[in-house]
Amino acid sequence: MSPRISYSAHGAARQVTGSCHLVTYGDRRILIDCGLFQGGADYHDLNYEPFGFEPEDIDALLLTHAHLDHCGRIPRLVRQGFRGRILATAATRDLARIVLLDAARLQEEDAERAERSGRRRGESIRGPLFTLDDAFHCLDYFDTPMAYGQTIPVVPGVTAKFQDAGHILGSASILLTLKEHGQDRTLLFSGDLGNPGRPILRDPAPAPDADYVVMETTYGNRPHRSLPDSVDELYRAIRETFARSGNVIIPTFALERAQEILYYLHRGAMDGKLPEHMPVFLDSPMAISATEIFRRHSECFDRQFLDQLRESDPFAMPGLRFTRDVAQSMAINRIESGAVILAGSGMCTGGRIRHHLKHNLWRERCSVIFVGYAAEGTLARRIVDGAQSVRLLGEDIQVRAQIWTINGFSAHADQRGLLDWLGRAPRRKVLLVHGEYDRGMAAMRDVLHSRGVASQIPDMHESIPLD
Ligand code: ZN
Repeated sequence: MSPRISYSAHGAARQVTGSCHLVTYGDRRILIDCGLFQGGADYHDLNYEPFGFEPEDIDALLLTHAHLDHCGRIPRLVRQGFRGRILATAATRDLARIVLLDAARLQEEDAERAERSGRRRGESIRGPLFTLDDAFHCLDYFDTPMAYGQTIPVVPGVTAKFQDAGHILGSASILLTLKEHGQDRTLLFSGDLGNPGRPILRDPAPAPDADYVVMETTYGNRPHRSLPDSVDELYRAIRETFARSGNVIIPTFALERAQEILYYLHRGAMDGKLPEHMPVFLDSPMAISATEIFRRHSECFDRQFLDQLRESDPFAMPGLRFTRDVAQSMAINRIESGAVILAGSGMCTGGRIRHHLKHNLWRERCSVIFVGYAAEGTLARRIVDGAQSVRLLGEDIQVRAQIWTINGFSAHADQRGLLDWLGRAPRRKVLLVHGEYDRGMAAMRDVLHSRGVASQIPDMHESIPLD
């Protein structure tokens, strides 16, 4: 009997987080991504629920990229019996390592704290989602890295090809080709798609022909602000802050955003739009590690960035300091003016950024520049929404610094970017995932409908036959 092919989503179904997709091919099981649900307690609880399939039945896991919402449940998958191989690009493997180890450390710290307070209340507390040991263990399952454009057999009858998704270093879209009744059936996973025209990385490679496309819809409903405008605004914010003798604080995500901002600071200094020797601090051990991984993966860079690297290294500009240890980080607090400080976390929910906010947020001369998404309920969101005062490290701190929100640095394609990527090739169906249901997904469904393309929004754990 010929194998029967089906698809089911076990994360990022009618939501924007927890990407995890299962392809069933006869008695074979292939997983695309195994991400963590992120964003508050309700989402976190989902990570403790059963996957919706048996981890030991999975033959292979294909990983699109190293963001935690795509790789963060891998340690748990392995702990629950997965023994297949994990296929990813070399850069994704290197980044996933630091992302998973960092997440494990945080999980253990959180669990310890919860247990202490739980014991005081006489409650029993569940342990961490995964431990450092789990994270180290799962790294053993990463197979020989995949190169872009390379086609390899995954299980008998199925091949996979990775192509550049232009989202973060090493990110990929994945094309599966499955033999069915002597014919090829093709299934394309977009992964997260990048925003074309950004520096450092190449633009997403256009979608190849495929019968079925599983596509992200994070910004399926709207356009982004133009990148050049956003860069100009960043420069203006820094110049104005320096003119009134303040510091600039930029909360940053460790992967991608930090490196991109460093790139723009470097370019601004070279072009005379920013002071040449301004002190810039990258005060995030994880972002420093990620930057070192960037340096090792020039195979992911676009031509323009490779050319520029020959002239000068943006990750080694004069004035740039990497501060790994805590004493160096604390020393930054003594600087009163003229410094740009990048620290995590991007949403200010933890990390060193909180110290820098405590020392600068109450000072009118300073600026805080938000360059990423600020989710509901986070400190970043409260500041962006205009709070007069915020609670920080046990103190009420007045918000007197100038607050900037610059939205054009997104690592995701907007609606036009998604449609351009998808192209006009005939598709039997487009499955819409990784978006807010009534925003990105609904808007994309309507646009596709107007173009005569069939689409479906899968429900969590729903099995969809692909015949
Ligand atoms: Zn991503």
